[in-house]
Amino acid sequence: WCDSWGGCCAGPGTGLQSSLWIPSVGNSDVFLLFSALQGLFGVPELSCPEGFQEAQDKALQDSEQLVQKACSTPPGPETVKIFDQLSDSLCRVADLADFVKVAHPDFAFREAAEEACRNIGTVVEKLNTDVELCQSLRRLLGDETVMSSLDPETRRVAELFMFDFEISGIHLDEEKRKKAVDLNVRILDLCNEFLIGTHIPNKIDKHVLPEHIRYNFTAEGNYLQVAGLHADCPDDLVREAAYKIFLHSNSQQLARLEELLASRNSLAQLVGYDTFAHRALQGTMAKTPGMRHVWKDMLRNQITQKDFEMMTKMKMKLNPHNSVSYISICDCLYNIDPGLYCPFFSLGACMEGLNSLFSQLLGISLYAEQTKRGEIWSEDVRKLAVVHETEGLLGYIYCDFFQRPDKPHQDCHFTVRGGRLKENGEYQLPVVVLMLSLPNSARGAPTLLSPGMMENLFHEMGHAMHSMLGRTRYQHVTGTRCATDFAEVPSILMEYFANDYRVVNQFARHYKTGQPLPKNMVSRLCESKKVCAAADMQLQVFYAVLDQIYHGKHPLKKSTTEILKETQEKVYGLPYVHNTAWQLRFSHLVGYGAKYYSYLMSRAVASMVWKQCFAQNPFDRAMGERYRREMLAHGGAKEPMLMVQGMLQKSPSVEDFVDALVSDLDHDFETFIMDS
Ligand SMILES: [Zn+2]
Repeated sequence: WCDSWGGCCAGPGTGLQSSLWIPSVGNSDVFLLFSALQGLFGVPELSCPEGFQEAQDKALQDSEQLVQKACSTPPGPETVKIFDQLSDSLCRVADLADFVKVAHPDFAFREAAEEACRNIGTVVEKLNTDVELCQSLRRLLGDETVMSSLDPETRRVAELFMFDFEISGIHLDEEKRKKAVDLNVRILDLCNEFLIGTHIPNKIDKHVLPEHIRYNFTAEGNYLQVAGLHADCPDDLVREAAYKIFLHSNSQQLARLEELLASRNSLAQLVGYDTFAHRALQGTMAKTPGMRHVWKDMLRNQITQKDFEMMTKMKMKLNPHNSVSYISICDCLYNIDPGLYCPFFSLGACMEGLNSLFSQLLGISLYAEQTKRGEIWSEDVRKLAVVHETEGLLGYIYCDFFQRPDKPHQDCHFTVRGGRLKENGEYQLPVVVLMLSLPNSARGAPTLLSPGMMENLFHEMGHAMHSMLGRTRYQHVTGTRCATDFAEVPSILMEYFANDYRVVNQFARHYKTGQPLPKNMVSRLCESKKVCAAADMQLQVFYAVLDQIYHGKHPLKKSTTEILKETQEKVYGLPYVHNTAWQLRFSHLVGYGAKYYSYLMSRAVASMVWKQCFAQNPFDRAMGERYRREMLAHGGAKEPMLMVQGMLQKSPSVEDFVDALVSDLDHDFETFIMDS
């Protein structure tokens, strides 16, 4: 892997020069220079920015034909197939463009991709309100004989497509439908405005702050700009000032949020739901907001109890502005200096670790594949072929791992092409991009990852495996296109592997000496994480509850700030700071709207799967196969709770979910005290 960059290998005895990494040097470069220019991801049109227009036009043409075909085909499995083809032809361009518009180094490409996204988005909106198209699907869903003859996957996908129509208000009379369209447009604008507002720095007259801390903030004439919480700053006063200024209430942003929440509620009610949360939770594991409240309350109480025990033991005092720096405090207490760990986690070693884990668990290997000229957008992007020992090629992962100017600092998984069974019987292989922002290594040295980066790499590879191993018939439900509260299960499960000594010991080797990472360093790392986990989980519960109340029954009984204050004191246990309005910085309200709890839900499932299936033996092939068969293979084509039941071979209760989260926080204080 990338260790071989600059001619530096991974050191003696590490066995890292496997087939995983074939550097693209030597004659092949000459060959590439003279070979024809290919488009991005091998899409022929995309060899230049203008190609997006061409690809988009082609997709729109195809989609027009497919719409006609759908409308003229009698109800049957064919209907669902055509709908999926229609969705595939649009997604193939839109998903790819979605990635290119954020990550391509060339502005012209980003702009062209953005334009394509917008145009296809408009067409999708139109299709979702196309009465004739909807009727062709409704005829199918209304025909009981045909429906009962369909397999469960086809039935579910038909229902999911119908759901897309319904949330656009297609079943309404013309006047109401127009209202729904208008609300959708307004909500989209409000979301964009609110998102921008969450990042805008707050300005303050510099004389308000004591002179000795002013240098921490950007000066602008007589003003200082506060652009964040400065959570890593060791100075308590700086953190307090940043907290109070950055989170200071802003009436414009407040108005936006309140209008957004009210509009979402109106839209949900217009299309037939009690609240926006009811609409959002359809098809998820949680199913209804009510069920969630039960376990949230239980969870809150139990975590508060754990947190309290821990605080007393560690004699820590928390207030809101230093709770965010809690994690670094933990790191200090446990002597977690990332610098000590990095040499053991070279990127090459980590990739070999993943390769070895996947091959033991699932019979899968990762091979570096030569890319064609123009196929990738940056020289340091690597293409991995995912190959099964008997089934052969399963899909491709493009690894865009390194920082570069204009690339967002975000760890992310993008579906570029969904898997699906094609008309000719072949399987359309899934293609994804994993985006990380690893530091560029010094010349001749391998890229070294901190423990956090290593864990993130495992997390993102969990998403990639979900995509690669999904074998759904329809791309509408490919890999990670599943219920939001299930989507993080495969990735969080990988974090458990990343924190297990038996797994880490297989790959963590000092890049110079080849020495393995000492066991006590791994246990110290894991223990430190558990300490932070209690506080972090409490914070997550607070965010999730707040998100539920905001998207619950309207009109809200109080202002969003008053609700924040009340919830914070009740759920999080830390006092609200006067004149602040943290919710105005809560950007996830836009993307997750009523589903912020998903992260906790996924974590609970991952924890149960880990403990029951892999904790005894993280390399258990039989369990790996069961995991693939019961969970990964289905993408979003199966009800998530049924997948969980298939994996655990029982139906977890609400208490099981709570226990799974809380028991992760148990840890051995004695080890910690003796060790530090
Ligand atoms: Zn994730």
